[in-house]
Amino acid sequence: MTGQAALRAAILRLAGAGIGEPARDARRLLAHALHIEPDRLTLHLQDLLAPEAAARFEAALAAREARQPVSQITGTRLFWGRSFRVTRDVLDPRPETETLIETALESPFASLLDLGTGSGAILLTLLAERPAARGLGTDLSPEALAVAESNAQALGLAGRARFQTADWFAGVEGQFDLIVSNPPYIAEAEMAGLSPEVRDWEPHLALTPGGDGLDAYRAIAAAAPAYLAPGGRLLVEIGPTQGRAVSALFAAAGLSGLRVEADLDGRDRVVLARRG
Ligand code: GLN
Repeated sequence: MTGQAALRAAILRLAGAGIGEPARDARRLLAHALHIEPDRLTLHLQDLLAPEAAARFEAALAAREARQPVSQITGTRLFWGRSFRVTRDVLDPRPETETLIETALESPFASLLDLGTGSGAILLTLLAERPAARGLGTDLSPEALAVAESNAQALGLAGRARFQTADWFAGVEGQFDLIVSNPPYIAEAEMAGLSPEVRDWEPHLALTPGGDGLDAYRAIAAAAPAYLAPGGRLLVEIGPTQGRAVSALFAAAGLSGLRVEADLDGRDRVVLARRG
């Protein structure tokens, strides 16, 4: 069978399983099975599919039918133009998080702290974009930190990135020009309504703090002022309805210059605050 024929059958199969973008996903999974970049796939579609590649494609399709996210199946995700390793232990870096990167890069910083770093996508992107900066990434999950460390190595950033297992600021020392976080912010009651890709495959630790979804911001607001250098900035990702509540928490903690930024879809996505 040619790659083309296998691709056609796969698109029908994923569509039949209710996958939202069957053609896009099938192409990425076939490229993965062939060990080529997705943008090279068309060049190889007339070739016969080798048995090993066919077996890899079959396994990938079965995983996708079970709603595993494409990034977990292929093991990689592009974020701000760089490739990150992604496993079940980390949140899949999402395009809307690039809004946080854009806002962070508006002003200079030499020292950076990323709370709940997960894959390291935020920390490592900011370090890659600012070659003089150094940063610390914390996470409650040692498995997540192992993924972040491997991403630091792969991107040549291990010399400027440190990692530490921590519950928010616990055990963290020093002050930082920039503190960033994409914390868990989904309210407990909203978890059941998430897509199976997110609810059944991504780490709940990274998705929800339980309750009203604001507990992580409460913990961050309480301690952030002591960890910010004078004039330092705090930037967090939020859910679209949380701008007002998170701004109020940060203002109550004594931070100033509050701003809410929208993502490319026009939904509130980032809250920015400054230490006096
Ligand atoms: N943006 C993610 C989602 O909606 C949630 C990530 C988070 O809680 N930090 O699935």
